[in-house]
Amino acid sequence: MSQTSFPGYVSPGRIEVITGPMFSGKSEELIRRLKRAEIAKRKVMCFKPDLDARYHRTAIASHSAQTLNAHTVANVGELRAVLFPLLDTFEVIGVDEAQFFDPSLVALSLELMHLGKRVILAGLDTTFAGEPFPPVPELMAVADEVVKLSAVCMQCGAPAVHTQRLGASQALVVVGAAGLYEARCRACFKPYLDEHASEQLEMQGLVIGR
Ligand code: ADP
Ligand code: MG
Ligand code: ZN
Repeated sequence: MSQTSFPGYVSPGRIEVITGPMFSGKSEELIRRLKRAEIAKRKVMCFKPDLDARYHRTAIASHSAQTLNAHTVANVGELRAVLFPLLDTFEVIGVDEAQFFDPSLVALSLELMHLGKRVILAGLDTTFAGEPFPPVPELMAVADEVVKLSAVCMQCGAPAVHTQRLGASQALVVVGAAGLYEARCRACFKPYLDEHASEQLEMQGLVIGR
């Protein structure tokens, strides 16, 4: 880490936020950046919330099956408890599915940045209702760099900025239910529920517990 001539000065790190709807390539981009950091011989540590057990408990994964080792943690407190004893060792900290962490992730990211770390966070910017998904908007506001990716609309092929929930559940967090979400453009997005697609899912036996 570079030092200036001022005693006690630590050059700040960086906060990078990768955001967009589901299937927009956020995890892919996070993995790409972290792998490049490793190629540059930086020590990388990556975290994800244990809500997201879709693919692996010990790695982050993209829908295109790329993976990178990660620690699964229950919350920001546990992330802190795992990271801080090893903080001197690691220069780059990755976080996937940032929207599933509580708002103290923002303060933690700023703290790590002030300690000279490069913090790269990936997460959904909006909920299935199309509303800002805390704490990602707050992270975007304090970031050095924000990358907003789009997916491909599964109805018409246009660039998609929304995550459409196809099932009947209105709970904020329904994780990893394959086939229950798809990317939609603004024109095809129907907030709250797409009844037609939901019926199709039911016919395929994918919706349970209604
Ligand atoms: P995210 O983390 O944003 O949900 P991922 O990085 O896990 O996205 O997955 C991105 C990959 O998902 C794409 O490279 C592509 O292979 C695949 N994919 C599946 N459905 C779509 C879609 N509707 N739009 C774009 N990519 C899609
Ligand atoms: Mg992802
Ligand atoms: Zn569309």
